[in-house]
Amino acid sequence: MQIPGHIDPVTTGTVPLRGGNRIDLVGLTRDAIRAELVEAGLDAKGAKLRAKQIWHWIYHRGVTDFEAMTDIAKTMRPWLTDRYIIGRPTVREAQVSNDGTRKWLLAAADGQEYEMVFIPDADRGTLCVSSQVGCTLNCRFCHTGTMRLVRNLGAGEIVGQVLLARDALGEWPKGNMASTADSDDEDDETGHYTPDGRMLTNIVMMGMGEPLYNFDEVKGALKIVMDGDGLALSKRRITLSTSGVVPMMARAGEEIGVNLAVSLHAVSKEIRDEIVPLNRKYGIEELLAACAAYPGANNARRITFEYVMLKDKNDSDADARELVRLIKQYKLPAKVNLIPFNPWPGAPYECSSPERVRAFSNLIFEAGISAPIRTPRGRDIMAACGQLKSAATKPTRAELDRIAEEKQAALG
Ligand code: SAH
Ligand code: SF4
Repeated sequence: MQIPGHIDPVTTGTVPLRGGNRIDLVGLTRDAIRAELVEAGLDAKGAKLRAKQIWHWIYHRGVTDFEAMTDIAKTMRPWLTDRYIIGRPTVREAQVSNDGTRKWLLAAADGQEYEMVFIPDADRGTLCVSSQVGCTLNCRFCHTGTMRLVRNLGAGEIVGQVLLARDALGEWPKGNMASTADSDDEDDETGHYTPDGRMLTNIVMMGMGEPLYNFDEVKGALKIVMDGDGLALSKRRITLSTSGVVPMMARAGEEIGVNLAVSLHAVSKEIRDEIVPLNRKYGIEELLAACAAYPGANNARRITFEYVMLKDKNDSDADARELVRLIKQYKLPAKVNLIPFNPWPGAPYECSSPERVRAFSNLIFEAGISAPIRTPRGRDIMAACGQLKSAATKPTRAELDRIAEEKQAALG
């Protein structure tokens, strides 16, 4: 399967089904569930009602067993069980850091592994979700970049991470089920419940992979996550991070509408070409112009520029000033997240000193742009992108070099 669009250098395998001959309903739209039920023999009216009920049980109540769907006739439940499943990724490893960060290594039905991280804070709980197994790109500071892209994750595998996190955090609503008779609107993005008292309040597409190279599945998954009759997270609490796939950015804004984060990491062509090689295809000017045009970005919903602090590479005062100049030149409603580099075995960089990071941050703040320094989380459990998975499969140096060369050639 070619990933959609002329922009994509690497082919991937197809997403296999979980549950043998039975169809996994997770990741299907409400309409697709309805169509399945019609295909299996229900009349149109019955299928519509059942689809609505099943949807509510899956995404509002977190149920994985049709027998628990008490508003569906007892005789109908075995009929559903024979044909469908409500799947979850398999948990290969689950770790809890001493700072409360949790990390899971998950496996898909075909055994492919990907990661998910939950980061609790005082006022929020953020789930970091993966979009691909591996990554086509090869940012040099990123451990996922040392892996081959194996395949895209399907919408069900992406939304499945959110469902699994809710399971693990034990926060599905218990009490009475809300009425399923209200709005039919699948595009309802406002969300019906507030995050008060919930642990999982925010989602960032910042796990393994480049979400804009898996646009359709990421969009499908996030639409489900935002659906008001289910998980009901507001688009304001979801952030999609891209390394700069310029041709897909406008569509992301128009069709998904979540917050945008851009992995900028450098302000000159020379350095960005080195650390984010996609820059050789879509340069800084093009990228910032696409940011300026991003639908929905304004002062209340700013674009986040991620900037990993690499010692003597991108961390000088001149770099900070150039970053400010660029943000002003393109009139970007922007904030900057300074991320201390999280080292991994064999990484070609070191993290900037705390004093350097502080000075860099101050220069940006002085120009009136917010530039908080991110506190590293879960270091004791290797919570940085791609680290748990690569601890499970250790390639040799020669293998790593070969992968980097292949990716570079594919980028053209
Ligand atoms: N592919 C997307 C999203 C996943 S990476 C992207 O690149 O934006 C999520 C963020 O983690 C990116 O900003 C990435 O640059 C950062 N990151 C990756 N490896 C890191 C490391 N070792 N230390 C600090 N940040 C890292
Ligand atoms: Fe891929 Fe993002 Fe890692 Fe770059 S930083 S290699 S785009 S996951």
